[in-house]
Amino acid sequence: MISSKPTAIITSARYQEHRTGNHPESPRRAAALHELAAKLLAGSDRFTGIDPVAVELAWLEAVHSPRYLAALERFCISGGGSIDLNTTVSPASYQTALLAAGGLLQGVDAVMAGKAANAFALVRPPGHHAGTGGSEGFCLFNNVAIAAKYLLDRYGLQRVLIVDWDVHHGNGTQDMFYDDPRVLFFSSHQYPLYPGSGQPGETGEGKGRGYNWNLPLPAGCGDEVLERAYAALLEPAVEKFRPQFILVSAGYDGHWRDPLAGLTLSAAGYARLTGRVMELAAAHCQGKIALTLEGGYDLTALTGAVEATLRALSGEPPEAASQPDRAGPGPGGYSPELGPLRDIFQEVRQLHKL
Ligand SMILES: [Zn+2]
Repeated sequence: MISSKPTAIITSARYQEHRTGNHPESPRRAAALHELAAKLLAGSDRFTGIDPVAVELAWLEAVHSPRYLAALERFCISGGGSIDLNTTVSPASYQTALLAAGGLLQGVDAVMAGKAANAFALVRPPGHHAGTGGSEGFCLFNNVAIAAKYLLDRYGLQRVLIVDWDVHHGNGTQDMFYDDPRVLFFSSHQYPLYPGSGQPGETGEGKGRGYNWNLPLPAGCGDEVLERAYAALLEPAVEKFRPQFILVSAGYDGHWRDPLAGLTLSAAGYARLTGRVMELAAAHCQGKIALTLEGGYDLTALTGAVEATLRALSGEPPEAASQPDRAGPGPGGYSPELGPLRDIFQEVRQLHKL
């Protein structure tokens, strides 16, 4: 289904200014995606570009403590370095992170205003591990959580869905909305793997009980298992929740070429997942979706899978959307009927009373 409205791509050369030294989350990721965005924007009127501006402090403070924000800014300005076990910052990192969160909010605005059918913010640093009081796992501000709060508070929405298909569990996002029934968090991730959380039994607490969905998957799963999981678990969750907007923590470190993990997805698989989320959005919220980039550390895999996602968002069927991908299909994957996978699916179903 081709919408008459374009897909917004939030992109900027300035996303390279967050310097991390010899680190997988490197400025080269932003450079490669900025080049990809330029190609797509020049080649088709199905895309529209958005140049990001910094997020306002009030929206940062909606999810992060003022104390953390001040400390992070000071640490960056004074030269940067290692800020936690695996996160590195440079003098311009704070400003770049403001543009990351700000860019996603502009994407949300474009969709809410009806100027874009949907939006993908090609930002860095990523966000889904960042907590209320600190950086974590390459992440400074929790961009997707800020966008969810923005939709609730600025637009007065009551139900926002966050889908997290990054290969790692979105622990920061989970924690921020663990007791909040207005945000349904659905994360599929490889387990065991960093950060170690993300079990099916983590279903939320208080009024938020039942609004946190985790699907931990073994390495080597492949595209078909993820697609099956979306059909069997995400779809019924969404039917019940009836989201008014869908945000996606779109990480591509589940790709078979990725050096940090081994879920063995392909660009074609990501295009099909995108198509499924679009169908859910069409059924429940007039197609309103905004994606934000999380992980993905092999540049060929990242650009191929992001292009496939963008083409799918613009209305191309998933098979056509992944045609330009140079990485190709992964090494296979499991059958969704396999015993251990069936058990995990069953556990999630029981916990959420499906
Ligand atoms: Zn990740």
